[in-house]
Amino acid sequence: MKSLNTDVVIVGSGSSGISAGFELYQQKVPFILLERGDKVGGAGKFGSHGVFAINSQQQKDKKVKYGYQEAFEGMTDYNHYFVNGELLSRFLKESGENIERMEQMGLPVTVEQSEQKAHLNDPLVYHKFNNFTGKMANWDKLPKKFEAAGNMVLRQTAAVNLDYNDGLKAVIAEDSNGQKIRINTKKAIFADGGYCGDQEMMAEKYTDTDELLNLGEHKADGTGIKLAKKLGANTQHNPVLFAHGCAPSFQINPMARQSSVETLTNLPLLWLDQTGNRFVNEDVVYDFAMWANAAHNVQGRYYAIVDQETLNTFKTKEINLEDTIERQFCEVGVEPRTTVGPIPDIQADFDKAIQSGEVVKAETLEELSEKINLPLAALKRSIKVYNQAVKNKKDDTFLKPADELLFGVKDGPYYAIIEHCAILGTLDGVNVNRNCEPVKRDGSPLKDLYIVGNNVNGLYSDGYPSYEGIANGFAFVSGWIAAKEAVKSMNNEEVKN
Ligand SMILES: Cc1cc2nc3c(=O)[nH]c(=O)nc-3n(C[C@H](O)[C@H](O)[C@H](O)COP(=O)(O)OP(=O)(O)OC[C@H]3O[C@@H](n4cnc5c(N)ncnc54)[C@H](O)[C@@H]3O)c2cc1C
Repeated sequence: MKSLNTDVVIVGSGSSGISAGFELYQQKVPFILLERGDKVGGAGKFGSHGVFAINSQQQKDKKVKYGYQEAFEGMTDYNHYFVNGELLSRFLKESGENIERMEQMGLPVTVEQSEQKAHLNDPLVYHKFNNFTGKMANWDKLPKKFEAAGNMVLRQTAAVNLDYNDGLKAVIAEDSNGQKIRINTKKAIFADGGYCGDQEMMAEKYTDTDELLNLGEHKADGTGIKLAKKLGANTQHNPVLFAHGCAPSFQINPMARQSSVETLTNLPLLWLDQTGNRFVNEDVVYDFAMWANAAHNVQGRYYAIVDQETLNTFKTKEINLEDTIERQFCEVGVEPRTTVGPIPDIQADFDKAIQSGEVVKAETLEELSEKINLPLAALKRSIKVYNQAVKNKKDDTFLKPADELLFGVKDGPYYAIIEHCAILGTLDGVNVNRNCEPVKRDGSPLKDLYIVGNNVNGLYSDGYPSYEGIANGFAFVSGWIAAKEAVKSMNNEEVKN
C-alpha cells in the first residue's frame, strides 16, 4: 500500500472541509485534503446561497439588534431544548467573525433580507454570497493555494477506514482505481457532508426515501458517521432531513425555471395528500423548509390539483400570486415580481409534463382518482370543501388567506401535478462536544478525531428550522473550530513530550 505522512487529514472539500483547510493553511500546519469527487466543493459550492451569522461587522454597521441572547434562546426554544447547548453557543459566538473570514477566503457574503417571502420581516441574519458564479470559481482557487504551500489535495480519493488504537494512527484512503493509500497522521477532520448519498442509511431512517427528490451531495455516504460509530461514538438522534422546497422531478425542479408546471408548483393552489385530503395551509409554500416538512409529513408526495379553467386563466391573465422561487433569482437590490402570468405556453408545458409523467390529466374526478390512486370519496369531499372556501373567501380549516383563495376546481379536464419533497441533505450523525470532537455515551471524546458540518448532531431537533443559512453557516464555523482545536491539541502534545 502506498504511504503518505502529514499532520492532519481533512475528509471532504465542501464548506466545512475547505474552511478547515483554510485555517491550517493560515497556521502553516501540513495537511492532506481528500475529496471523493473529481472536483472540490460539495453542496457548499454547487448549492448553497448563503450563511447565517450574528454580530458580523456588517450587522454591527447596520445596527442589527438581534444578537447572542436572541439567537441562543430562540434556537433552543425552537428545537424544544433538543440541542447541544455548548456547541450551539460556540457556533453562534464565532459566526460573526466567520463572515470576515469568508471574505479572506475569497467567498464574500453580504447581509441582506432572506430570499423567502415568509422571512421578509425576520431579523437581518442571512448573509448571501455576493456572486454565485464567482463563489464557485474562487472555491476552486483555494486548493491551488493549499498545494502551493506544500499541502496535498487528492481528488477522486475517498477516506474509507481508520487505523485507530487509543488514538489515530492513519487514515486509509482509496483512489478511483481502487488503489489504497495509508496516510499516517495525527488528526483527522471528517467534513464529508452527512449521508444523503447512502440509500441504505436513508431507507433505515426515512420511510418516504423513495419519494424524496434528492438535490443534495450524492457523494456523501456517511463515511465519517459510520467510522466514528464503529469506534464507539454516540450516534443516537432523531433523523433530521434537510427538507427544502418541493418539485415534480429533476427535470422540473425548483431551480430550473423552465416550465410553467413548476410555476404552478410554486403557488398556493389546492394540494391533496396521498389519502385525497388537504394537509396544510398551502401558503406554507412561501417558507421553503416548512413547505418541504409538510410534504415529508405526508410521506414525501402530494398533488397540486387544478382544472382547465385555471390553466386558461393563467394563460391569458396576470394573477396576483407570487412565485415563491422568484426572490432567489433576483440580484441584490432588484425588486421581485409579485404576480404570475400571462403564460401563453402553459398548455404546451402541461401537455409535455403529461407525456413525461409529472402531470396526470383526467376528464372526470373518477378517472383522476383511478389514475393517481386517490380514494374517490375523499377527493370529492376535499374539492367540495375547498370550492366552498374559495366561494366564501374563508378557509375555516387551514386558514389560507382570502387573497390566495382564487381558484376552485370545478369542471374537467382536471390536472394533478405530482409533487415530491425536495431535500438538500441530512443533518444528523454524531454527538460532538464544543470542540467538534466525537463523544461516547459517557461524554468522553474519541481523541484525534473531529466531526463537522452536516455530520453533526445537536443543532436541530427534528427538521431544518426557520433560520435560513444555518446549515452552511455551521459547516464553515465547525470546520474552522475543528482545525483550531486540532492545532491546539498538537501543540499541547508537543509541550508534553
Ligand atoms: C442545492 C443546495 C442549496 C443549499 N443552499 C443552502 C443555503 O442557501 N444555506 C444553507 O445554510 N445551506 C444550504 N445548503 C446546505 C449546505 O450546502 C450544506 O449544509 C453544507 O454544504 C454542508 O457542508 P459539509 O462540508 O458538511 O458538506 P458538503 O459541502 O456537501 O461537502 C462534503 C464533501 O465531502 C466529500 N466526501 C464525501 N465522502 C467522502 C469521503 N469518504 N472521502 C472524501 N471526500 C468525501 C463530498 O464529495 C463533498 O465534496 C444547500 C444545499 C444544497 C444541495
